[in-house]
Amino acid sequence: MSSLTDSVAVLKGVGEKRLTALNKLGIHTINDLLTYFPRRYDDLSLKDLGTAVDGQKVTVKGQVITTPTLNFFGRKKSRLSFRLKIDGNIYNVTFFNQPWLKKQLELEAEVIIFGTFNLNHNQIQGMKILNGDKSDTYDSIYPSNKEVKQNTIKQLIQLAFKQYENILVDIIPTSLRQKYRLESFHDTIKNIHFPSSPIAAKRAFRTAKFMEFFLFAMKIQLLKATHRQPDPKSKIIYDPKLIKSFTQQLPFALTQSQQKVMNEILTDLKNPIEMNRLLQGDVGSGKTVVAAIAILAAISSGRQAAIMAPTEILAEQHSNSFAKMFAGFDVNIALLTGATSALARRAMLPSIQSGEVNLIVGTHALFQDQVDYHNLGLAVIDEQHRFGVNQRQALRQKGTSTNMLAMTATPIPRTLAITMYGDMDVSVIDELPKGRKPIKTTWITSAKTESALRFVKKQLESGSQIYVVTPLIEESEAVDMKNALAIFERFKAIFEPQFTVGLLHGRMSNQEKDEAMTDFKENKFQVLVATTVIEVGVDVANANTMLIFDADHFGLAQLHQLRGRVGRGEKQSYCILIADPRNEIGKKRMKAVASSTDGFFLSQKDLELRGQGDITGLKQSGMPDFKVADPVGDLNILTVANQEAQSITVNSDWQKKPENVQLAKYLKYTQTITTD
Ligand code: ADP
Ligand code: MG
Repeated sequence: MSSLTDSVAVLKGVGEKRLTALNKLGIHTINDLLTYFPRRYDDLSLKDLGTAVDGQKVTVKGQVITTPTLNFFGRKKSRLSFRLKIDGNIYNVTFFNQPWLKKQLELEAEVIIFGTFNLNHNQIQGMKILNGDKSDTYDSIYPSNKEVKQNTIKQLIQLAFKQYENILVDIIPTSLRQKYRLESFHDTIKNIHFPSSPIAAKRAFRTAKFMEFFLFAMKIQLLKATHRQPDPKSKIIYDPKLIKSFTQQLPFALTQSQQKVMNEILTDLKNPIEMNRLLQGDVGSGKTVVAAIAILAAISSGRQAAIMAPTEILAEQHSNSFAKMFAGFDVNIALLTGATSALARRAMLPSIQSGEVNLIVGTHALFQDQVDYHNLGLAVIDEQHRFGVNQRQALRQKGTSTNMLAMTATPIPRTLAITMYGDMDVSVIDELPKGRKPIKTTWITSAKTESALRFVKKQLESGSQIYVVTPLIEESEAVDMKNALAIFERFKAIFEPQFTVGLLHGRMSNQEKDEAMTDFKENKFQVLVATTVIEVGVDVANANTMLIFDADHFGLAQLHQLRGRVGRGEKQSYCILIADPRNEIGKKRMKAVASSTDGFFLSQKDLELRGQGDITGLKQSGMPDFKVADPVGDLNILTVANQEAQSITVNSDWQKKPENVQLAKYLKYTQTITTD
């Protein structure tokens, strides 16, 4: 029997090689393929150029009246040009980098061309040549790459739709579909891939967005329901005296805010309901020590605690600082990451299983199959926005009756938070430890880079260390590395041998990254050129200046996080943003970061000022990676979908209602397979 979970390998034309290539695009199952949606639609109906505006995409039919000439320049670049007579007028047509099209063009012949119209030059920049038999008026354009070409995807989707359209059942309950005038799943898929008009596609997308948000909201509601059941075994019966002696021996007094959230957490732990709490606090607000208190409480009640961080550098740093903080307390720490050697792992796993180790610090490695815990009572997730819902659950499910504390420095606006983190209680640390000097941030254009470099030199001469950050400009690690490398070479040329320059980027092995970070911490080099690998939690008190190149390529929340790497010591610290934003919005964004050190304010600005379709900032703030829906642009759909999910799950028997059967089946299924 066929099912949407069938591998795409069942389709004709998908062999081993193509399968691998499709997998790389995230397409594994028929369902993945059918929900691999077009990026845009090209309107292929013939246009009258007399009414077309400059820059418009047009389809035109005309006669080739000059012999097409093909010029090559560079290694892979080419230009194919000729003249085309359309309705008695003559236009220049050029195709860039598609030399093979020359074969399809003949003098005097009629062709249909799709391209961009340039009104001032009476020119068309061609994108494709259409066959005479063009049957669709709207051409779906899919994200594709060299290995899986546009046409391949199109054909596979057509094939899959034909073979599977009979089993596209509706997951959304009928009453909701009627209430919001949503299309059936079958029609949604059909109209998104093969729309009869732009309006049909838009309507189908509306349903797809609702569906995506609704299923997400259902998942959150179900999580909430499972964890709100009274569970006496989750109780952490800690020793208040021990907690007191721990806080008293710290080198600093807790801020009022830290005390407040500490009490909220300890109250949760005592309660016979699993804790499910989100701890929000700006960078540098001191979340780690609060986590330490919760960890000590769990351990003192005889249970294990684990803390998971998104990177090895950070896990290692936590392991070191906990070792220091817990010196003299009965805490036995193990560090488990992807970099842990097989030998060390083998020695470690039994002592985790036996309970001899009672604090396990690590990365994603913490929830791997081979890792068995003795009695995990508390799971702490640091920088929780870097993990998916399922990853957070995966760690929690390593124990039974396990309390969860998720920590994040990226504040997201309340409207979104209610939905995204609807299953959690929230604690906020809203003050920084006393005596911190606010980081001074300035924005300069790249023309002023020299003056920034002089400033950097002065800081170096006074004994400080410097971060230099380069962004992810392209979606390719190779390009980013080149970028970082170029800047690395430039800084070496300027500052060496007086000062040493180090490099940290995503392409380095984890061991290399750790070494670079450790060397920087130990002041073996004074300048660290890095990609965003350093974004999270890294603590080097002697680094007081950060220089960020192409700062306008980052989200505001991310810039705020990045700059949080400085300002951790006694000295005044600085952040210099180098950026040449292309428009007013870009300028406003830079000004916002330069003028505010308030993470909440910046996350709100991020939403207000972000360009259309640019959701990088949001992704960096922990938004799940929605496929079609946009949590900001489609906020009203999100809100409604969330309300509906809530009202369905109010009734604990919801799964038994006939109209919910398919929904329940779907959710049960995805809960067991996804690991995003
Ligand atoms: P974050 O909330 O960004 O994770 P950390 O927990 O790393 O921040 O804390 C940043 C620094 O502030 C650490 O060096 C920590 O020791 C220090 N710190 C934490 N709480 C206090 C406090 N109450 N007073 C002074 N320093 C503190
Ligand atoms: Mg931290």
